[in-house]
This record gives sequence, C-alpha cells and structure tokens, in this order.
Amino acid sequence: MSPLTRRTLIAGSIAGAGISVLAPTTANAVAYPFTLGVASGEPAPDGFVIWTRLAPSPLNADGLGGMSSASTAVEWQVATDRRFTQVVKSGTATAVQAWAHSVHVEVTGLQPGREYHYRFRALGFLSGVGRAVTAPAPGTAPALTMLFTSCSHFEAGYFTAYRRMAEENPHLVLHLGDYIYEGAASTTNVRKHVPATEISGLADYRVRHAQYKTDPDLQAAHAAAPWLLVWDDHEVENNYAGLVRNDGSPAGDFRARRAAAYKAYYEHMPLRPAQAPAGEHMQLYRRVRWGSLATFHLLDTRQYRDDQACGDGTKVCPEADVPTRTLTGNAQETWLLNGMRERSGTWDFLGQQVFFAQRLTSAAGARSMDSWDGYTANRDRLQRSWDAAGLKNTVVLTGDVHRSWASDLMLDYATQDRVVGTELVTTSVTSGGDGNAADNGLSTLNPHIKFNKNLRGYVRTVTTPGQVAVDFRFVDKVTVRDYPVKTAQSYVVRAGDPGLRVP
Ligand code: FE
Ligand code: CA
Repeated sequence: MSPLTRRTLIAGSIAGAGISVLAPTTANAVAYPFTLGVASGEPAPDGFVIWTRLAPSPLNADGLGGMSSASTAVEWQVATDRRFTQVVKSGTATAVQAWAHSVHVEVTGLQPGREYHYRFRALGFLSGVGRAVTAPAPGTAPALTMLFTSCSHFEAGYFTAYRRMAEENPHLVLHLGDYIYEGAASTTNVRKHVPATEISGLADYRVRHAQYKTDPDLQAAHAAAPWLLVWDDHEVENNYAGLVRNDGSPAGDFRARRAAAYKAYYEHMPLRPAQAPAGEHMQLYRRVRWGSLATFHLLDTRQYRDDQACGDGTKVCPEADVPTRTLTGNAQETWLLNGMRERSGTWDFLGQQVFFAQRLTSAAGARSMDSWDGYTANRDRLQRSWDAAGLKNTVVLTGDVHRSWASDLMLDYATQDRVVGTELVTTSVTSGGDGNAADNGLSTLNPHIKFNKNLRGYVRTVTTPGQVAVDFRFVDKVTVRDYPVKTAQSYVVRAGDPGLRVP
C-alpha cells in the first residue's frame, strides 16, 4: 500500500475521536471497517500494543465481520499530537481471516513516560484516534492515575461507567474480568445479547465480543488509555475451573469451547502476540513494570485452578482448606512470588479476579467456594511468603462480585493478627443492574473488611512513592443512560504501612 498522504492525514483528523470516514482512496465495495473501535494496551517504557479489528458487518452470524477470506493490509501511525502532524512511528500490519482480521501491533522505539496518539487505515478508511501512554523510564516514579473495573454485562445496563472512565484521562485502565458474558439473551434487560443463545463456538464468541465492542462508551474508554486485561469466568463460562465445566452447564467438548473462547478473547483485546492462544491454552499471567513506582502482577485464576470444593456455591466446607488445593497453579504461584521478591517497584499491584480476603457469610463459617476462601492454603502461602520477604506494599485488585469492597489483608484471619496488605474490590460496570447504597453488614463477621457498597462504577487510584489514594466512583443508575459519576468513599494506603486509612 502506498504511504499515507499528508492530505489524507489532515482530512482524517478533522473528525477527531469520532468515526472519521474518508472518501475511499481506492475503489472498493467495503463499508467502514473500524466499527469495533481501536485500543491500546501493555505499556512499556518504549512502546505499547495497538489493536483494531476489521469488521464492516460486525454482527454477521459467521463471526467473520463481513470480511472476505483475503488478507488485508492495515497501515498504522503513532504521533505525538492528536492531529498527526508529528508522526513518529508508522508501519503496515496484515489482518488475516484466521484471526478474524484483528491486528496486534507492538509499537517500539518511543520515549518513556509520554502521551501518544495512534490510528489505522485500511480499505481506504481511517479509524478513529486512540490515546496511549508509555510507562515511565526505569528508576523513575511519576504519579500514576490508574482506574480499574470489572463485570460489564451488556444487557444489564448502559456502559456509562466506561464513558466516565474515559473522561478521567487516566494513564492506565485495568479490567479484571467478566468483560463479556456468555449467557443467552434475556427478555427483561435494557439491551439484548446476540447471538440470542448461550455462546459456545468460535463464531458465537466472536459475535458476542464484537457486539460489546460496538458500544460507543466502551470504545471511548479503550481510546482514552492503554488497558491491562485479565479474564475471569464469563469470558468462557460461569464458574468454570481449569478444564472442568460448571456443574449443570450444557454438555459438549469443554476443551474445544475453552479454546474458542480464548481465541476470540485474544482476537478482541490489545494483547501482545506472545499471549496468542494455542488450542485451549493461553498464557495470560504476566508482569508490567511502571518505573520504580509499581509492578503489576496480572494473574489468571481460572485456567489452572482446582475444581471448586464441595460442589461450588457458598457454604461451610472443610475441604476448602486442604493444603494441596490451588487457585493459581504451582507454576504461577512461584512466578508471582519470585517477581514480588525482585522489588522492582515500590508497590506490588496484584490484578486478579476473585475475592482475596476471608469473607465469612455466616457465623457458622460459610464462604464462597469460587473465591480464595475456597483455596485458603494457596492464599496463606502467598501472604506468608510476601510477609517473610519484608514486602509491605502489596495491594490486591479484585473484581467479580458486583459490589465494591475494601479490606485489610490479615496474616491470620481467625485471630485478626497483623495486617500484611490491602485489597480493593471494584464493583461492576453494569452487572447486577441498578444498585443501592445499602451495606450488607458483613463487616461484623469480618472485622478486616472496612467497606462495601452495591452500586455500579469503578475504582480510581492515584499512586505516588508515598501512598495510593483510592476513590470508589459510582453511577447511581445504569438502566438509564448518562448518569454522572461521584465518589462515595476514599482511602489512602501508605507505603510501608499496609491497610486502609481514611484520609
Ligand atoms: Fe461478573
Ligand atoms: Ca465472575
């Protein structure tokens, strides 16, 4: 393909962040292919990944997005300004049908700690413009604004929280799982899933991901900042464990289903090609360093876990405490602890899926078998190991439970002896629908749990070498569009002094 002309670039930038359509530069019969937006992720000091997928008809049932089998050239540019007058990197990627015409470009050679803008051109059309930032240089620790959220059920409400996240202009966004939901279309929610049935094959997963990505609020959030994503269960199937399907789920080859789900996930996320799946395996746990300020240890608590104890659910279950039970798998546990002991950043953020602190739901000791409470030996080994290494700045970031929580992590939950870390649990973008401000009272049974609230939204963190400032951000309704966001609770976590403090 010929290089982008200057005139093309300026014409394309006039439309700004929205959909900027040019007259086709070459004869073609294809409609606008950037219907799923653009995204960036995996920031490093010298670059990041930029993503898009060509899909002129994104909801076609065959999952191919209206593209032919032909491979398609996708030009890309990275500039220091939004109008692309200072293009610093450019190239051409090839979108192939085997990967649903998605592209995952690893941009390198950029300056650390800087803001950039990127866009694509294919089939004669320009994409919208995305903003990305590079991680700071090793040894430096500028303040970091990071937002995290989880559980974005398309049907349960509008993605207003994503829009509000975009408006915060963060350096970084974390999504901690349940990015899509696999279920059939409901008859009562404000929006309807396609396909209408529970998804199970590759075409279905592609269409479902594409439906989510057509949402303008989600597109705005992806275009606003680089993301780090990890999955939970619903990207495949509710509460699956390793290669064990959830009890009561449809029969069929679960290995093939997981492979299809992982492949579609990769195709739709700004991940590095190193994360591309092979069959039913995908290497998702990974580390991202943010100068000397922080290290993000991004965990996969689904692919390697033992089956939930006592048939899953929330119950009293001594089997949950069997020492050999694992949530992370042994290899990931070793990898995590080795990485934490490197002390490459002041703060260790564990980006992961399920509730980490003990959370008793009855005086008899009932607890959720799907969370770390169902794998207590694994949790104890991690906490004791990081404590023994003298690490005092561990902050566990969690999703999954459709409710916001904040907890001190205790070396021993029974005796409440010694705080060894902090857990921040984000609520959902939409899952659960409109919330309410009621507290569920579990802090009585769990004194280390300081806060919980049932509203939709996300968590904002501003991290410096001295503290993490935390704001729980909420929208009052998601079944009505465009609610404002407000802060309901704030905490600080001080370096060297684990646990929550009210500022
Ligand atoms: Fe969820
Ligand atoms: Ca979940």
